[in-house]
Amino acid sequence: MKKTNQISALYIHIPFCESICNYCDFAKLQYFHNFAESYLIALEKELIQVVDNKELKTIYIGGGTPSSLSDDQFEKLLAMVKPYAQKVIEFTVEANPESLTLSKIKLMKKYHVNRVSIGVESTDDNILIAINRKHTFNDVKSAVKNLRENGIENINLDLIIGLPNVSKNMLMKDIKNILSLNPNHISAYSLTVHEHTKFYLDGIVEPDDDFAFEAYKEINDILQENGYSHYEVSNWAKDGFESKHNLTYWKNERYYGVGLAASGYIGNLRYKNTTNFQDYISFKNEKEEEIVTPKDEKDYEVMLRLRTKYGINLKEFKDKFGVDFYEEHKANIDHFVESKLLKKVDGEIVATFEGMMMLDTIYLAL
Ligand code: SF4
Repeated sequence: MKKTNQISALYIHIPFCESICNYCDFAKLQYFHNFAESYLIALEKELIQVVDNKELKTIYIGGGTPSSLSDDQFEKLLAMVKPYAQKVIEFTVEANPESLTLSKIKLMKKYHVNRVSIGVESTDDNILIAINRKHTFNDVKSAVKNLRENGIENINLDLIIGLPNVSKNMLMKDIKNILSLNPNHISAYSLTVHEHTKFYLDGIVEPDDDFAFEAYKEINDILQENGYSHYEVSNWAKDGFESKHNLTYWKNERYYGVGLAASGYIGNLRYKNTTNFQDYISFKNEKEEEIVTPKDEKDYEVMLRLRTKYGINLKEFKDKFGVDFYEEHKANIDHFVESKLLKKVDGEIVATFEGMMMLDTIYLAL
């Protein structure tokens, strides 16, 4: 079993939001000052209990909306994380444009946050209103400007593909608007309609596969032309700005997860914290746990690594699992290479763009 002090990535979940978006299925709740106070107490306790490595390489504070906390609470959060951030290379905080105030940016700078991921979702203000986002595209522009003026240059902008009433042309306009802000990293996720969301109750349907494929393809073409590499199914980055933290997940490496509904992977245990807010703040964190067998670990490795442009390195795979991945799946791999869903280059098996869009088919066969 891997010692926990070899784990170098930490995810922290802040579940509060100023308002609830119509499509959202994340673990989140409306921000109330007192709730957040209680939450931070429980969070600190869990942090101290779980994280025994003070030399983390990546920290990612996500949500929810971490920037929905009051300034005092936001500083309390960053101060409790500080002891773990002494050697951190990449320290990301998620934020919404309307709550990414100058005072919060200055706090981020003070506590060495060096990457900010902003939920943009659409650059059309009417669409933003329709999905119950509380910002405008002008807010995004100001947030990016303020971050840069305060020395935080590593910025991700998030977009959703397949929102209702967004045509492909509108989506392309979104991408151009986003490119005009010159971020280092762009994420584009296809809309999923989950039960219990307003979208579900309103009968909104997910984009069909053809629309999603065409949209991803056009976005990919534009982003590649503009110097962004498609390094994961839904993520593009300029050279050197791939998310180091998220690559921990996709490389099937271990990570701590703390906070409501946070997932972690320690030793041979994958876990998910309670999703019950009252339980969490009462220190009753009943986790869902999955013991990862060597076979499971191998399966995870294949599923996760094929999501990225780095794919499966055959030598590393053999060193880790004692088997030749290519020999084990030769017929299927050759078939997918022929149909241009996989490529075999320099001892690596890598999904092509089309392959990344059809990973379920590949997984089933492998
Ligand atoms: S801001 Fe993010 S986490 Fe909060 S409701 Fe909207 S999508 Fe969900």
